[in-house]
Amino acid sequence: MLIVQKFGGSSVANAEKVNRVAGIIADTYCEGHDVVVVLSAQGDTTDELLAKAAEVNPNPSKRELDVLLSTGEQISVALMSMALERMGLPVVSLTGWQIQMSTSFDYGCARIRKVSTERIRQELDKRRIVIVCGFQGVCGTGDITTLGRGGSDTSAVAIAACLHADKCQIYTDVEGIFTADPRKVEGARKLDEITYDEMMELASLGAQVLHNRSVEMAKRYGVDLEVLSSYIRNSGTKVKEVTKNVEQMKISGIAKDNNVARIAVVGVPDQPGIAFRLFRILAKSKINVDIILQSIDRNGTNDISFTVSEDDYEKAMSLVAEHKESINFQDLYGDKNVAKVSIVGAGMLTSSGIASTMFEALSDAKINIQMISTSEIKVSVLIDESNADKAVQVIHNKFFN
Ligand code: ASP
Ligand code: MG
Repeated sequence: MLIVQKFGGSSVANAEKVNRVAGIIADTYCEGHDVVVVLSAQGDTTDELLAKAAEVNPNPSKRELDVLLSTGEQISVALMSMALERMGLPVVSLTGWQIQMSTSFDYGCARIRKVSTERIRQELDKRRIVIVCGFQGVCGTGDITTLGRGGSDTSAVAIAACLHADKCQIYTDVEGIFTADPRKVEGARKLDEITYDEMMELASLGAQVLHNRSVEMAKRYGVDLEVLSSYIRNSGTKVKEVTKNVEQMKISGIAKDNNVARIAVVGVPDQPGIAFRLFRILAKSKINVDIILQSIDRNGTNDISFTVSEDDYEKAMSLVAEHKESINFQDLYGDKNVAKVSIVGAGMLTSSGIASTMFEALSDAKINIQMISTSEIKVSVLIDESNADKAVQVIHNKFFN
């Protein structure tokens, strides 16, 4: 089999961990498989590099920042190759440009266009273990790009897709995908399987196990994906198109996102074009709006509230305030102390009453819901941030006990 194995930054954080991971790679290779390994930068290296840049220039160009950030992954692949060399195994490390990981020109958040498999294939034909830098690529001008924070998962899936690998294994410091964050929620369990769609929702709703673009790509190319632990040799969680759901679970997981803020635009005229004007202003500044709620008409006016990420909050507030006249609102309120709690499950497509079960759990715990939004396979509520952890726990108890 051809297996792509990706190890995250915490799994290769120091020499001891590098050696442990080398053991996993060596075992896979010695079972007779072709192995391509994708690595992240060690531990907090990427954050440290960002801090180093800020010391010299608080506003560096994105191009130079990518030249700097891409070095973290180069350290990892070199060290891992040395660890495997010491074990007497044939190995070669390669950068993103050596494997022609072609990307768009968006420094800092580049999109993968194509991966040339030629060099990797040549090395595999020589029975070498191939160790590749995650997170980095090269754009049309031959300049170094990076894929955005957490991007090595996406590098691994892209390489697996282009090589038509039999498996893509994402090794991390948890044992797989859990029904909720196991460090915070009592009774959280590991899932054996989850669908690509559920995983995409969970990844974008705040579960931090997988980069959401990696799941999107795995779905598009049908990559056989598994999330598993670098420390415990156990099977992890398979991410696939359809799951068996033997336990007939109504939902697969609960996610919490504290990086949310709510903005309320109060007393706008109830007439066509107002929502368009408001959201166009935000869209022009590339501010992503998530949940939107419009109240019903009261004496010819209504209220529009919406959520943005906390990082965009100040900018959104001042943009809306600046356009008070053209939007024609009476008051503007904002609140950063809110959190979004979501349940996700493909089961929602076929069974009813799931949202009401969630609301019942919140009602029993006397937690007030400020906003609600739904999609085919998820229900999200916006609540006070101070209640968020409790909300996740009571919802989890309701569905899984
Ligand atoms: N080293 C990069 C980061 O910290 C990429 C990754 O870890 O996936 O975001
Ligand atoms: Mg990661």
